[in-house]
Amino acid sequence: MLPQGKQEFQSGGKGAWSDVPAAAWDDWTWQMRNRITTLSQLDALMPLTTREREGFRATENRLSFAVTPYFFNLIDRENPNCPLRRQVIPAAEENLTSPEETADPVGEEKNSPVPGIVHRYPDRVLFLTTDRCACYCRYCTRSRLVSNARGYDFRPQLEAGLQYIASHEEVRDVLVSGGDFLLLSDEKIDYVLSRLRAIPHVEFVRIGSRVPVFLPQRVTPSLCEIFKRHGPIWLSLHVNHPKECTRELAEATERLAFSGVVLGNQSVLLRGINDDESVMRKLVHRLLTLRVRPYYLYACDRINGSAHWRVPVDRGVEIIRSLRGWTTGYAVPQFVIDAPGGGGKIPINPNYVEEILPDGTIRMKNYLGNEFLYT
Ligand SMILES: *Cc1c(COP(=O)(O)O)cnc(C)c1O
Ligand code: SF4
Repeated sequence: MLPQGKQEFQSGGKGAWSDVPAAAWDDWTWQMRNRITTLSQLDALMPLTTREREGFRATENRLSFAVTPYFFNLIDRENPNCPLRRQVIPAAEENLTSPEETADPVGEEKNSPVPGIVHRYPDRVLFLTTDRCACYCRYCTRSRLVSNARGYDFRPQLEAGLQYIASHEEVRDVLVSGGDFLLLSDEKIDYVLSRLRAIPHVEFVRIGSRVPVFLPQRVTPSLCEIFKRHGPIWLSLHVNHPKECTRELAEATERLAFSGVVLGNQSVLLRGINDDESVMRKLVHRLLTLRVRPYYLYACDRINGSAHWRVPVDRGVEIIRSLRGWTTGYAVPQFVIDAPGGGGKIPINPNYVEEILPDGTIRMKNYLGNEFLYT
């Protein structure tokens, strides 16, 4: 089944795995078992730069390396600046820590009443259920625990988390994340969702997942049936570049949407990936045709070894300005900075208000820069 939009979505195909039967290729467990996880495996598949080779030092004590065959085939092997390549293949700069960087830049540890729960806002919690992901994003804000390269030894304590939520009546919204919750088995996902939905004060469940992007094969009809049973479910994808919007992702989001899952997207503003008006415009347009509403654009958190990713905040503001009014309002994400140390997400907006006069009249500018008064 293909989306009914007019956009053409490409598939990366089977590439170096052309002899693998379609039934295996389309099986998410095959994709997981056949992930590329070492420098020598990667070396055999593509020419690597010195910078990338040196990056592999960071995989031992910072964040593991893994890429699914599906996602690998989307990478341009001849172009070291390929935006998909750079997101998943380590780089030498990851070994450098800048003074402003820390292992827990948004202070999740200090807002964690039980392991796996981050309770920062009054009415909702973040529930971390695993430290595994299908592929590892080199800028990951949670790399202190994700992949366990640092020996953090995160053990998801599902029962402790569920009990915390059940005993806190103010929690009406649970954001299930990790790692990636969708890497758990159907049985476990079904179990966690039914336990959460059985708590009277939990109004709905949200999931943050990059699995549809790295491993769209995981979005099986049986998983979608589980979501249908436990809805309303809101799911935030994490797509950073239009090249991630493939035919396989389009099929996955269609299945999710037809199962009643409400889809959003979170992107991270990354230097050389999407810090460009035309790239971002293409991304948000493609997302809408995938039935995905752009939700947040994050300034890159100050995680250790991420200085090479960060973009000046005013560039983010300019990118939002280039969208607002110039394209569909649904296409415009909210640009946010997750405040260092645990202040939560703070919206950063272009300023359209010039002045508020003593009589309450507001002097403002529209997207074209024309001035208006509203009394
Ligand atoms: C991002 C986040 C949420 C959800 O925030 P929304 O603005 O409602 O999407 C909740 N808890 C924590 C700890 C978060 O980081
Ligand atoms: S998928 Fe999310 S949690 Fe996993 S490595 Fe990427 S950013 Fe981190």
